[in-house]
Amino acid sequence: MVKWYAHIVLGVGASLALINPEVTRIFMVGTSATIGSLLPDLDLNSAHRRLLHNFWALIMIVLIMTLIFKAFHMLSKDIIINIIAPVSIGYILHIIGDSFTKMGVWPLWPLKKPHISLSEYEYDHPVINIFVASIGFLLCIVYLYSYLKQFIHVLFEVL
Ligand SMILES: [Zn+2]
Repeated sequence: MVKWYAHIVLGVGASLALINPEVTRIFMVGTSATIGSLLPDLDLNSAHRRLLHNFWALIMIVLIMTLIFKAFHMLSKDIIINIIAPVSIGYILHIIGDSFTKMGVWPLWPLKKPHISLSEYEYDHPVINIFVASIGFLLCIVYLYSYLKQFIHVLFEVL
C-alpha cells in the first residue's frame, strides 16, 4: 500500500471528478470511494498485497454488492452511480496507486504476470505519497471548480 490517506485522497478525488455527483450525493460518493480505497489493504496480514490487490477480487466485490442491494430491493441507478461506481473507482485506483511502489502489484493474481512496479520507492516514501495524493487533490479541485456555481446556488437556498 501507499499510505492510507494517499489512497483515500486519490480515490475520492477521482470518483468526484469522474462521477460528477449532485451536491446532495457528495457524501455518499465520498464515503463509498473511501471504503473502496481502503478495502484492498485488508489482505495485508494474509497474502501480502495479492489476495485483494487484483481485478478478480474487485469483480467479486462488485458482484457481492450488487447481490446484497438486490436482495434488499435497493438496486437502482442511484445506488450504482453513487455507491457501486465510487467503491470500484477507489478500489482500482488503490491497485494503480500501489503499482508506483517498489513491491508493486500483481493485478491478475494468482497469475504471476504482469507484475507492475513503476518506481523504486518503498510504499512509505514521501515522494510516492505526495505524488499520489497530489493527483487526488487536483481531481478534487477539478470537480469543485465545475460545481462552484451549484455550491453557491445551494448555499443561497439554505440561507
Ligand atoms: Zn495496498
